[in-house]
Amino acid sequence: MNIAFIGLGIMGSPMAAHLVRAGYTVVGYDVSGERLAALAAIGGQTAANVAEAVAGADVAITMLPDSPQVEEVAFGEDGLLAHAKPGLLYIDASTIKPETSRRVAREAAERGVSVLDAPVSGGERGAVDGTLSIMVGGRAEDFQAAREILGHLGTTVVHVGPHGAGQTVKAANQLVVGGIYGLVAEAILLLEASGVDPGPGMDVLAGGLAGSRILELKRQSMIRREFTPGFRIDLHHKDMGIAIAAAREAGVSLPLTGLVAQLVAAAKAQGHGSLDHSALLKVIERINS
Ligand code: NAD
Repeated sequence: MNIAFIGLGIMGSPMAAHLVRAGYTVVGYDVSGERLAALAAIGGQTAANVAEAVAGADVAITMLPDSPQVEEVAFGEDGLLAHAKPGLLYIDASTIKPETSRRVAREAAERGVSVLDAPVSGGERGAVDGTLSIMVGGRAEDFQAAREILGHLGTTVVHVGPHGAGQTVKAANQLVVGGIYGLVAEAILLLEASGVDPGPGMDVLAGGLAGSRILELKRQSMIRREFTPGFRIDLHHKDMGIAIAAAREAGVSLPLTGLVAQLVAAAKAQGHGSLDHSALLKVIERINS
């Protein structure tokens, strides 16, 4: 089976590598030549543009930053839909607006292309280990067709509803993740300001009811103030915007989400957009300085 993989960044690169190792023919494309060279080095094939990547593909996967990049790749003159063979299964793993996912699915259907929105959670670690959580929106039969491929990328792969539902679940995921980061930052600061060593203090939290993947993976780097991404503040800012818009559309009030969105916006405004989202700690520190 031939898989076109477009967007070989922090997440896409290790995801494509899993598919190469699983024995699929993977033809990758990224606007970054460096990213393409990395795929070639591990046995993937590279394309000069989107059209070339999808030309012979049975399945296409995109892992792009945001809705505008997905629209460009999907709808562009030299884009995916213009060059897909009928029957192509298009899996978009990017985190984008649910309405964009629904539009891509509608326009693709007119060209005989099936679409799944399949955003992921688990961070770079999850992508490298192949242990992502994948939330899939679209038709049940397309989910079944994608199940084997997605099984190489994640350990929790769930069909959550129709087109766009995967993105709505991802928005819910991101507001929880943002909230936990904010509170972990506040816990670290409370311990430090009280003269309690945050190392053993946070170890205890990680083993108790407050324990989470974030505490497990990030507490030490946060205490050391190491904020290499990972997942950039810029991308989390985008995701909080998606969550706020989804709440408005659904007619619900999410007050804590609003607060978390403002903290993430402050991190971006303070120039931390390219740092890991655990850098929310810097915002809490600045409030207290
Ligand atoms: P990234 O910026 O590292 O990767 C995106 C890649 O897309 C880059 O290599 C970029 O060159 C490429 N690209 C951009 N426009 C393109 C175009 N028009 N054609 C081809 N390639 C193009 O971002 P990432 O961290 O890998 O995130 C990708 C998506 O996954 C985002 O939607 C993000 O929200 C989501 N996500 C990220 C993480 C994480 O921990 N990094 C976790 C879960 C979900």
